[in-house]
Amino acid sequence: MKLAGFTEESIVDGPGVRIVFFFQGCVHHCPFCQNPTTWSFDNGTEISLEQIEKLLDKKYKETSGVTLSGGDPFCNLKDAISLAKLIKEKYHINLIAFTGYTLEEILILSEKNKDYLTLLSYLDTLIDGRFIMALRSIDINTRGSRNQRCIDMKKTIENNYQIVLASEMMDMSFYNNKYESF
Ligand code: SF4
Repeated sequence: MKLAGFTEESIVDGPGVRIVFFFQGCVHHCPFCQNPTTWSFDNGTEISLEQIEKLLDKKYKETSGVTLSGGDPFCNLKDAISLAKLIKEKYHINLIAFTGYTLEEILILSEKNKDYLTLLSYLDTLIDGRFIMALRSIDINTRGSRNQRCIDMKKTIENNYQIVLASEMMDMSFYNNKYESF
């Protein structure tokens, strides 16, 4: 698969100290994105699932979990599913994914491609929505802007895709609960 990169120890991409894989390719092109070099689907470095497995074999016991970031993992569905499946089926560790799509948009896309649901099914938490500079806050853990939501995917799927927030990851005082689409 092609990645923009990875880091073995991040404290800003979810709870604890996490391994983060940055996918290459993103269609959202949010103004003021911090990683515009990840937009192109032509850049990035090839890395095999076997190489990633070797890294996880060494690190999984000491990590708080894995975060899929980007770029956008949901713009790299096949590779993101392979990686998510490995993480959950072999290592059973916490898995978060960022996406520029809202969950509502993903559910619409899934009507034509069930792979979107497959990727959702492996996640503990989805952090959704584009980055919006006007809603940026340094006081919200993990999220870049206040429109983004930390969604408890296990509970949300149990709840027939009615959104259940991962309240421990959300700072509710900064979240007005009225998501505006754009
Ligand atoms: S979704 Fe993320 S990676 Fe893609 S443009 Fe927006 S902020 Fe950048």
